[in-house]
Amino acid sequence: MTPIAPGTVWLVGAGPGDPDLLTRKAERLICAASVIFYDALVGQGVLDLVPPHVRLVSVGKRSGRHSKDQKTIDALIVEAALAGERVVRLKGGDPAIFGRATEELDACRAAGVPVHICPGVTAASAAAADLGLSLTLRGMARKLIFVTAHSKSGAGLDLDWASLADPDATLAVYMGKAAAPLVARGLIDAGLPPETPVALIENASRGDVTTFSTSLSLLPMAAQTALQDGPAVILIGKAMNAGLGQRPATPRNTALAIASAVPASIASASSPAVQKDRTSRRPKAGCSGRLPKA
Ligand code: SAH
Repeated sequence: MTPIAPGTVWLVGAGPGDPDLLTRKAERLICAASVIFYDALVGQGVLDLVPPHVRLVSVGKRSGRHSKDQKTIDALIVEAALAGERVVRLKGGDPAIFGRATEELDACRAAGVPVHICPGVTAASAAAADLGLSLTLRGMARKLIFVTAHSKSGAGLDLDWASLADPDATLAVYMGKAAAPLVARGLIDAGLPPETPVALIENASRGDVTTFSTSLSLLPMAAQTALQDGPAVILIGKAMNAGLGQRPATPRNTALAIASAVPASIASASSPAVQKDRTSRRPKAGCSGRLPKA
């Protein structure tokens, strides 16, 4: 069986960084590719799984640091497929969540190139797992809203604050670091209580994850002081408060409990999140097993 038919493109979710969060299908596709075009957010641990004979091409998009524009990326994957390559387009998280997947799907289809999607674990799911919290909460957080706070022009945010300021929802804000003050102001002005719990998670699922808990009114300060250079997701809503009292008083959880009063980075050396066991990660892919049909 041909794992990826020559001339085919797969948009593959690389997950949030931890290679153990790759789907089995994603791993098999990575091993079956002849060329992989990958984003800057794809974790090094995932790239380490790529067999040496596979051509790895960085098309490294990070906010404000685009190494290739979207049209160039569209053209590159189409060109490679038309040349008969087995193309994997490897994207951070899930390709269908703030991943510009539509442009790439459209470009492939317009050129007559077969294209498929392999989903991945999105950043908000990994962030909630790092916090040890659920994104939804029975009777209290009955909606989960994914929203990007990245504006096309870099100018104001064109978001419908009235619908986002829902006390019964959890908001997962992607690309929200720079716009955190606008997000807090927009939500509070639209009626969300300033004391609404907020969690900021940087480098979710990675060895250097940091988590920080605060309230909506303190979000701007927290985003400025607690976050560094890594990708970060902001989770807003009552669900972010759940279970704090029941969790063991590790340094990390103590910080979570007091952070709404005194913001401070909780990335301490003793944090269990920071001390993730890197040695438990799997070695390079064996590239065996049944491969998904192209
Ligand atoms: N398709 C991706 C999102 C791409 S948009 C997904 O499903 O996760 C890029 C944004 O995703 C970043 O600015 C950040 O807000 C978030 N993100 C991606 N990886 C992350 C990680 N490991 N930790 C925290 N946030 C992350």
